[in-house]
Amino acid sequence: MKIHEYQACGLLAEAGIPVPPGAMVQSVDDAVAKADELFDAGSTRVVIKAQVHAGGRGKAGFVKLVSSTSEARDAAKYMLSNRLVSPQTPPEGLEVKRLLVAAAVDIAAEYYLAITVDRARHTNTLIASAEGGVEIEAVAERSPEAIHKVPLHPLLGLQPHQARSLAFALGFTGKQVGQVVGIMLKLARLFVETDATLAEINPLIITPPAEGAPDGRVMAIDAKFNFDDNALFRHKHISEMFDPAEENAAELRAKNFGLSYVALDGNIGCLVNGAGLAMSTMDIIKLHGGEPANFLDVGGSATDEAVTEAFRIILSDDAVQAVLVNIFGGIMQCDKIARAIIAAAKEVGFTVPMVVRLEGTNVAEARRVLDESRSELPTMVVATDLEDAARKVCAAASVTAG
Ligand code: GDP
Ligand code: MN
Repeated sequence: MKIHEYQACGLLAEAGIPVPPGAMVQSVDDAVAKADELFDAGSTRVVIKAQVHAGGRGKAGFVKLVSSTSEARDAAKYMLSNRLVSPQTPPEGLEVKRLLVAAAVDIAAEYYLAITVDRARHTNTLIASAEGGVEIEAVAERSPEAIHKVPLHPLLGLQPHQARSLAFALGFTGKQVGQVVGIMLKLARLFVETDATLAEINPLIITPPAEGAPDGRVMAIDAKFNFDDNALFRHKHISEMFDPAEENAAELRAKNFGLSYVALDGNIGCLVNGAGLAMSTMDIIKLHGGEPANFLDVGGSATDEAVTEAFRIILSDDAVQAVLVNIFGGIMQCDKIARAIIAAAKEVGFTVPMVVRLEGTNVAEARRVLDESRSELPTMVVATDLEDAARKVCAAASVTAG
């Protein structure tokens, strides 16, 4: 699960990591009111930032520094009425419904600091760079040696000496060292305590030297967290941060019916039982020159309702020009699925070709059930095996696609 920047900054603040004061708003008027409040409290500049589950906002024009009420109004109006398009969004961009209005800070240097799981090393890893900010992807590509990686012990976590070495390697000096070490240790603890899969601060900044802080202050001005869905049950305050508006609508509907669904770019809808079978179904479609429109695993105990919903979701994708139903009856009985297909097809109404491949428990009965319902399923094609099914569905999709 992903959360918004303002929520991530809230978690950082609770963990004792300094972040600028700010608040989330959902209207232009509230943005202006919050900006005015920050100006009145002494900020000379305020930053208005679009809250969506994608990065690259700065370059897209959705992070704006403003120094007056009218500039704040213009920035908020622009962000709430334009779609944000960045390399991290779909091509049509994302609608912005929430803004973060925060006190802007002066920046002397920008760093990158993150913790994620290094699957190759089987451990959590702290990643840091002195070249943080909006170009971090380019840094990773151009000069990977500028990115430091520190593997974390599974039980001991980040050790203070590791954090200190890293702080020096990044070029921190004087009082900043203690500040950044504190931030690293707190972030590492927060990562483990919240069952996060990613905790990223980019940029972590140093402010220019000022009165009372001659070395500058280290703080986080952008943060991103992902969490392990399977651990959310034990983090109520995090699962409550879920924002359905940021999710793919079809994926959300699928989740509510216990279906695993991932939307893809192709034109062949897939309805499969079992994740492994769903993967191999996608492979064999590709092998025959087709492109899957989705990954969909109805699971081992799909009900009529779940199968109906699965068809509804698949067919609500306008790109779908043919559907492949691939069921291997183990625990799931093929005849049960066949009846569910008929019930669902009647309710949803099939106009595109549907190729069905069934194998396993009660398959003979299933074939008989499907055969009897041919008149109700005029676009149904029964395949003899998976190879045959893949060939037939790819042919059907390319004919429909013209
Ligand atoms: P992202 O582009 O989605 O990662 O959004 P960020 O919140 O990281 O902002 C992008 C860039 O805007 C940062 O790397 C900073 O250079 C700049 N920026 C953001 N907030 C401030 C601020 O308060 N003061 C200044 N001077 N620059 C800021
Ligand atoms: Mn950023």
